[in-house]
Amino acid sequence: MAKVYSEKDADLKYLKGKTVAIVGYGSQGHAHAQNLRDSGIKVIVAELPGTNNYKLAVKAGFKPMTAREAAKKADLLMILLPDQVQAKVYASEIAPEMKKGKTLAFAHGFNIRYKQIVPPKDVDVIMVAPKGPGHKLRDQYVAGMGIPNLIAVHQNPSKQAKKVALAYSKALGGTRAGVLETTFSEETETDLFGEQVILCGGLSALIESSFETLVKAGYQPEIAYYEVCHELQLIINLIVEGGLSWMRYSVSDTAEYGDYTRGPRLVTAETRKEMKKILKEIQDGSFAQEWITEWKTGAKNFKALRKKGRTQPIEVVGPKLRKMMTWMKPKGVPKGE
Ligand code: NDP
Ligand code: MG
Repeated sequence: MAKVYSEKDADLKYLKGKTVAIVGYGSQGHAHAQNLRDSGIKVIVAELPGTNNYKLAVKAGFKPMTAREAAKKADLLMILLPDQVQAKVYASEIAPEMKKGKTLAFAHGFNIRYKQIVPPKDVDVIMVAPKGPGHKLRDQYVAGMGIPNLIAVHQNPSKQAKKVALAYSKALGGTRAGVLETTFSEETETDLFGEQVILCGGLSALIESSFETLVKAGYQPEIAYYEVCHELQLIINLIVEGGLSWMRYSVSDTAEYGDYTRGPRLVTAETRKEMKKILKEIQDGSFAQEWITEWKTGAKNFKALRKKGRTQPIEVVGPKLRKMMTWMKPKGVPKGE
């Protein structure tokens, strides 16, 4: 069994007296900046002037500066820019300030694993990757809880990199939930596989295709929505809290029998072959190359896919039904995003 680090394994003293720069005040950035500050760490923030996130940072009491300025002032820089823009900002604004003794930190291993960023040998390079979305990271911390973190050390000239990573994780609330040590390669490859095959890609494809099947067969879209989307939350909570056995114990015997006999018919030998192929593309760097090229050439395909995803039938019926569930805070993509 891998060691799980907890509160007692981490000491905030490895961050005391240091200035931590959070570069990018987005989904992860706003949570890191506020959790660390509430944990007594000195935090500065870098954001682009004029953006919505810049305003949010100001509202939270930060004085956002440029990445260059933050890189100059900070002892530890946590890079929380979108993965596909990190290399450019690093080269132009951060690299010139990466002096000996500083620490460069990431919340995902992409740019180090695929060598888009190659830091100088005399700086520490660590990862603290919360296993959950940024907004949850902040909510859980405020509620006295945390989200499990992965930590990794890529370069360690100071010989203290792991202690610093654990301290950072503690300040985020991660050690409250459990911290595992990994490598940049393992985190990057498993993270991409998880989001492509199940968490985002696989799950979205199942929701979309099962919704379509029901609606094409003449069932009401509203009923289809409840069945293939809304109920997911209840099922997922059961699985997360007690595993597949607990979920199967809680649902009816009829549902449990249907699960054992029908589920495997969906994940066929062909599906497994495709999973392996997706993993191979992650391991050999071809997915990373494809995504970097897509972004560099204007992201036309990406934007078209995003538009198509947002305007399909299930996304039209969903908001109407969610509006009726007054206990749920309505969520939606902000205008212009
Ligand atoms: P977001 O896109 O939510 O946030 C990035 C922020 O950086 C935005 O506010 C963006 O501004 C800002 N930004 C862009 N360019 C610059 C610049 N030149 N100088 C300063 N700020 C800039 O990213 P995420 O939080 O989703 O991702 C950050 C990192 O965290 C990634 O490595 C990701 O893989 C990792 N991660 C993300 C998770 C998540 O749940 N989102 C989970 C775990 C890890 P604007 O939007 O205004 O352009
Ligand atoms: Mg974003």
